[in-house]
Amino acid sequence: MAYIRCVNSVISERKLKISAALRDALESEQFELYLQPQVCLKTGQVYGAEALLRWHHPILGQIPPDQFIPIAESSGIIHSLTEWVVEKGLTYQKVLSEIYPEHVLSLNISGKDLARRELPVHLITLLTQLDLSPSKITLEITESATIGNMNTIRGVFEDYRQIGVKMAIDDFGTGYSSLAYLTQLGFDELKIDKQFVMNMENIPSNQTICNATCDMSHSLGSSVVAEGVESQTAYLLLKKYGCDYGQGYYIARPMPFDEYVQWLGESITSYAATSNLSR
Ligand code: C2E
Ligand code: CA
Ligand code: CA
Repeated sequence: MAYIRCVNSVISERKLKISAALRDALESEQFELYLQPQVCLKTGQVYGAEALLRWHHPILGQIPPDQFIPIAESSGIIHSLTEWVVEKGLTYQKVLSEIYPEHVLSLNISGKDLARRELPVHLITLLTQLDLSPSKITLEITESATIGNMNTIRGVFEDYRQIGVKMAIDDFGTGYSSLAYLTQLGFDELKIDKQFVMNMENIPSNQTICNATCDMSHSLGSSVVAEGVESQTAYLLLKKYGCDYGQGYYIARPMPFDEYVQWLGESITSYAATSNLSR
């Protein structure tokens, strides 16, 4: 009992430290936006990348987003953080779309940002300033963040889709919503949560879930991304199920921007070489 109390107090102390440190982390440029590739499973061609936040704290070290995002959400700092992500992400997309015009960038938006009217305005302003195609930007919203007032959330989704950006439901399968409920929101992409994908070659029920999700999602007119693709077997199974895009360590880990630019260049070259060979 005393041990559990001690562990809990260490955890809350760390939370307090993180919360205090978050305030000046943005100003002292401790955040970095990594990119993790997404590929088209049918062709092997690059589809785009998901932007993932990294925090390098000078004393606390690397703090994973799973730890600091919930704290940023409860302290309200998430709004400035999301604006920074959108700004940095779109600046990256400008460079990437010049290398590869089909490049699609996915950005994570917190459920806490959904009600903020400033965010779509900020997004339109940046898209216009940078002369970027909105259809090449996807906003990922977790399934759990869509639970609540259906009319309000549907309105928010509509507003973003009016701008021309794509809306994705992230972590699908971890919440308690049905596809029937989500369909009413209107979304363009469904991301199967990595818990169903990571070890799918050994778990038949996960294969059934992935296969059925692909079929249902397609019949509802949306595309499917599987995250957590860690093996060739999973990659090939998902391809067989007709899953559109894959993301995971088997393809590549999240990486800093410069490394991603190099990865993208190499992938474009190797895809061109193999498709020339098969002509
Ligand atoms: P997420 O949006 O579901 O992102 C996918 C997570 O899966 C990432 O963890 C990624 O590194 C990890 N991942 C990708 N492929 C594999 C794989 O093959 N195997 C395994 N085991 N993991 C894989 P990460 O970067 O630690 O991010 C964790 C979560 O933090 C994200 O989950 C997202 O919910 C949140 N997050 C990250 N960046 C942002 C951001 O800019 N804004 C917001 N609001 N949340 C973010
Ligand atoms: Ca995501
Ligand atoms: Ca996810």
